[in-house]
Amino acid sequence: MNPAAELEKIVKEVSTCKQCNLHYSRKNAVPGEGPSDAEIMFIGEGPGFHENEQGRPFVGAAGKYLDELLASINLKRSEVFITNVVKCRPPSNRDPQADELISCSDYLERQIQVINPKVIVTLGRFSMARFLPNAKISAIHGMAMNVKGRLIVPMYHPAAALHQPSLKASIEADFTNIPDLIARAVEMPEYKETLNEQKENPKQLSMF
Ligand code: URA
Ligand code: SF4
Repeated sequence: MNPAAELEKIVKEVSTCKQCNLHYSRKNAVPGEGPSDAEIMFIGEGPGFHENEQGRPFVGAAGKYLDELLASINLKRSEVFITNVVKCRPPSNRDPQADELISCSDYLERQIQVINPKVIVTLGRFSMARFLPNAKISAIHGMAMNVKGRLIVPMYHPAAALHQPSLKASIEADFTNIPDLIARAVEMPEYKETLNEQKENPKQLSMF
């Protein structure tokens, strides 16, 4: 199956998924969207009110801000893949629960495998925790981390940043580094080698 068809298959499965309790209250599942060959993938927490209504990720206030952040580095939403760690809205926007995160994790894993992005940006702590379970976002936001051969860059959640000026400054500064991370990940021949060497040993890549 080609990558676009694989992604479409995941969309179909998610739209009828009943693997966790979140399916009872959802209006629309939100599988995520973007090109199957995106170089960068953004992973948020879970759908909110507007996302649940429309079945699309980051279409509310946080999404508008994410669009602005993308525009600040000359990226269009249509060029990046955007999804969440849980694909159905937690009632009243509560935090996703451990069992829900586990039930939903295979969809995200498959999306990552198919797209094979150069850089994964996690937005907020639930998304970061999937790759870096014990990390503190205040300590490592904006840093490129190698996690099992993948380049993970944790950032604050745009919804949190919108309401807290200090976080807003941080996420805006962190975004300015993204083009360089993508360019260097693509161009550097030793990239894969370096990542392989550091497998199972997450730490900041010295070359970044
Ligand atoms: N917040 C998220 O984490 N994800 C969305 O899709 C929208 C808001
Ligand atoms: Fe399925 Fe994920 Fe939705 Fe739960 S949140 S019902 S696991 S798609």
